[in-house]
Amino acid sequence: MSERTPSRLPAAFVRVSKCPICRYSLKDLADDAPCPECGELIDRALLRSPNYIGPISETRFWCMLGSFGWITIALTLLFSYLRVSNPVNVLSFEGLSAAILIATPVLFAVSLQIWARKARRRVYEALKKSKTGRVQVQLRVMILASIGMLVGVVCIGVLIRAIGSMN
Ligand SMILES: [Zn+2]
Repeated sequence: MSERTPSRLPAAFVRVSKCPICRYSLKDLADDAPCPECGELIDRALLRSPNYIGPISETRFWCMLGSFGWITIALTLLFSYLRVSNPVNVLSFEGLSAAILIATPVLFAVSLQIWARKARRRVYEALKKSKTGRVQVQLRVMILASIGMLVGVVCIGVLIRAIGSMN
């Protein structure tokens, strides 16, 4: 019934002519020809389906907002660290803990970027296994991105206030 429901997000997010496994272009190949790069026989009908394009676009959208949030958190932590302590002490215990504290949100942002890059393959493989013919954005992606977005928004407020009080 809802088979042809179009994605709420633009399909421009996803280039459907690419192999979901290795990202090689399948553009001028016959539909029954396997991918010349990885040898996989790709279900072309699935590649054109909104059930494929939709979850990929949505995953990438979540990942984009989430990494933006986590980067904002990292910048806020870095900013606070530079304000309260002497940056010369980078090799001290405090400096090292601060570095780990700042690196953690950066790592989260990087993992969301990796998730976005792998979205095509993940969605394709999940769809092939799915009994309903539909897949959702992974819960892990949504949780990590939501936390980043929520805390990131708070951090933007903190940064604006801190920069305002500097003058
Ligand atoms: Zn391939």
